[in-house]
Amino acid sequence: MISRHVLILGGTGDARQLAERLAKRDDLRVTLSLAGRTAAPLQPDAAVRSGGFGGVEGLAHYLWEERVDALIDATHPFAARISANAVTAAKDAGIPLIVLARPAWQQAVGDIWIQVDDVAAAAAVLGEVRRTVFLAIGRQELAPFVAAPQHRYIVRSVDAVDAALPDAEYILARGPFGEAEERELLLRHGIDVVVSKNSGGDATYGKVAAARELNIPVVMVRRPQPSGAAGVASIEEVLAALGHALGLPAERGE
Ligand code: NAP
Repeated sequence: MISRHVLILGGTGDARQLAERLAKRDDLRVTLSLAGRTAAPLQPDAAVRSGGFGGVEGLAHYLWEERVDALIDATHPFAARISANAVTAAKDAGIPLIVLARPAWQQAVGDIWIQVDDVAAAAAVLGEVRRTVFLAIGRQELAPFVAAPQHRYIVRSVDAVDAALPDAEYILARGPFGEAEERELLLRHGIDVVVSKNSGGDATYGKVAAARELNIPVVMVRRPQPSGAAGVASIEEVLAALGHALGLPAERGE
């Protein structure tokens, strides 16, 4: 059987799940691509490559060299650069691009959200009065909070943080995080305000729901501009779109 090569741009749980689902098919060869930021990423039951491609040209070259038949962008909604590169590289290579675009969280009744455009604005909006702040935004964009040393920070990330904040406690943990455990964390640390990216999805929504329940405000960082490519909202829709694009028979036993 001719097997078609599918490259998944990953770094999310959705991408890992997709890779594992597609790797079971004997009519596909699947490669999951990671940026290489996480020291010990969860390993899927699929082939993995790691590290940047070297911009659009590097990605386009990889697509050509590895005879990739379809590209799936299942990166995090805040990973704007690789998503933009994927649009151009797939077009240059003349292959279909399927984008998994998790819908953003919507403010619900009872949510106290302060929506800002980026992490720097989130640091600025915390104000002058000392507060205990839960930073649940990963470890790569903590620098703006160095300029707001009046606050106490509880910082959660998968890997250890390099740039230390003056008054901070660090928690190393990997999601998903349920609402009950997030509620317990917010109470245990006496959190006054949560800073979150609007990532969408279920895996990290627990803190948003727990904050609502406890009447704790959330500084919610809006998403960057999307890449312009039309996206689908679920893994099932990606599988359907891929099947359509490559003319594949439906998955058996799923
Ligand atoms: P980014 O700003 O869009 O990407 C920066 C550069 O990292 C890209 O230009 C590319 O390098 C490389 N890169 C990113 N994703 C890659 C992938 N899947 N495979 C190979 N190279 C990749 O992205 P980011 O915000 O740094 O995020 C990096 C990774 O972490 C992404 O895979 C993303 O899904 C994941 N992640 C990000 C966030 C977030 O909040 N940003 C949260 C959770 C997970 P070259 O130009 O050299 O190809």
